[in-house]
Amino acid sequence: MPSIFDKILSGELSCHRVYEDAHTLAFLDIAPLAPGHTLVIPKEAREHLHQLSDESAAALGLALPRVARAVLAATGAKHYNVLQNNGESAHQAVPHVHFHVIPRLKEKGLGLQWNSGKLEDAEELLERMHTALATEEDPSL
Ligand code: AMP
Repeated sequence: MPSIFDKILSGELSCHRVYEDAHTLAFLDIAPLAPGHTLVIPKEAREHLHQLSDESAAALGLALPRVARAVLAATGAKHYNVLQNNGESAHQAVPHVHFHVIPRLKEKGLGLQWNSGKLEDAEELLERMHTALATEEDPSL
């Protein structure tokens, strides 16, 4: 089933477009945490970040700093958060990859609770992660 963002991409739903290139679209969030809160999405229909093709990922890497500069210029904010949620338990509501660019303006912006712990079992984690990276297949295939 097409998500809200697929409908924006197809033109079925309108948006306040901030930026567009061949692989990405950025538009104002409809329920902003601060004025200028912008969403940057790939045109590729994928639910989670790790499912994106290298082409989309590279295009997002280019688009994000551009959009961030526009958000800062338009709002006068000096600081901002880039947030990207994957999965319901990680607060993802729309099942199409999206990055939030959220300016920090006085009391407005992203509220954060950072429950940090102590780094443990680093060597075991590294071994598993390095194995995963070494055997990785292109997610777009
Ligand atoms: P997330 O919780 O990371 O999935 O965030 C989804 C975001 O999409 C929320 O900040 C919503 O306000 C925003 N959103 C939902 N529908 C629209 C829409 N039609 N246009 C712009 N933003 C939207």
